[in-house]
Amino acid sequence: MSNKLVLVLNCGSSSLKFAVIDANNGDEVISGLAECFNLPDARIKWKFNEKKESTSLPEYSAHSAAIIFIVEEIIKKVEGLEAQFIAVGHRIVHGGEKFTESVIIDETVLEGIEQCSSLAPLHNPAHVLGIKAAQKAFPTLTQVAVFDTAYHQTMPAKAFLYALPYNLYKEKGIRRYGMHGTSHLFVTNEAAKALNKPVEETNIISAHLGNGASVTAIKNGQSVDTSMGMTPLAGLVMGTRCGDIDPSIIEHLIEREGYSLKGVMDMLQKQSGLLGISGLSSDFRDIEQNYEKGHEGAILAVDMFAYRLAKYIASYAVPLGRIDAIVFTGGIGENSVRIRTKVLDNLAIFGYQIDADKNKTAILGEAGIITADNSPIAMVIPTNEEWVIAQDSAKLVSA
Ligand code: ADP
Repeated sequence: MSNKLVLVLNCGSSSLKFAVIDANNGDEVISGLAECFNLPDARIKWKFNEKKESTSLPEYSAHSAAIIFIVEEIIKKVEGLEAQFIAVGHRIVHGGEKFTESVIIDETVLEGIEQCSSLAPLHNPAHVLGIKAAQKAFPTLTQVAVFDTAYHQTMPAKAFLYALPYNLYKEKGIRRYGMHGTSHLFVTNEAAKALNKPVEETNIISAHLGNGASVTAIKNGQSVDTSMGMTPLAGLVMGTRCGDIDPSIIEHLIEREGYSLKGVMDMLQKQSGLLGISGLSSDFRDIEQNYEKGHEGAILAVDMFAYRLAKYIASYAVPLGRIDAIVFTGGIGENSVRIRTKVLDNLAIFGYQIDADKNKTAILGEAGIITADNSPIAMVIPTNEEWVIAQDSAKLVSA
């Protein structure tokens, strides 16, 4: 362990993911999850030194109680740990156009994050609660905000605008922002290293495939287009989110099928995607198990997931011109041999040819090229968003 530890917090509306990360090398010292906020069974679980522990939090606990528990009952119980902390790094989902890079949190930044709440009403208010609680718990530590949207602020207007009346963008900020920027940035840098190229000369298509999923076109190291939109609902087929749909479906369901707006939005966010198509689960492991048993819904869900992703990747040939590598990351991208095979099969027109053995080896945290020697390159790179947050926090503290 070094003396450069960062507490990384990812505050959601009903949960808080946390990790203590060594900013020097990305080592995870502690990781955990507090969940079921504002419910009788609020609880917390964590891992330290390979040992897993869990306990209930006081009933109806939320961010503040969880952070107090993390400090008093986890961090302070490890001798000498707190003294090694240099910062608290907060993952912030939406930074709008205000934030193009990570920043030290002061009153103005906190206000800016609050103002972006209209763009991420489920996330940003929770981040603000988490920041305030962390400021109280660690009054002497620098607090840093790292934005999911920041990396995509290099997109040109032709990629980030919707074909809506222009004043909706100018006056209301309605545009594509994109998410998962921290992950796309991390794998881009790692891919450039693996390809032995300067990142400023590297063109990547990065597919972050977790419960949420997005794909980004990266030209000369910078994001030039991405599949998520103003919110994380757009783009690929996801665990429970629909991705791209015809917006008129919403009116149709409300006007003709008796849905409420809330009912439709709930369905698009929580009952669609892999879950909606398969009728089974949003978890890709469940879907794959049932795929192998020949379950029709599971087969369709996998095929749709791969087809939509391949179509996006093919379309990113337009902004990139030259593709140095396709990168798979996130829980599904890092582990599903089947999805990677299907996506690259769908891209055969570009000459992609999978190497079955290499593809099978690149799982469970193993990085590597998964294409045949005479094929354009596709590779797996395990993401590490917490490390990016810890590194950015350390950089800002030392600056
Ligand atoms: P989050 O977006 O919540 O961070 P993750 O990146 O952890 O999500 O990805 C979660 C997804 O990865 C789930 O659908 C899970 O089933 C899938 N996944 C994890 N391990 C495997 C595996 N070995 N094979 C296939 N899918 C996997």
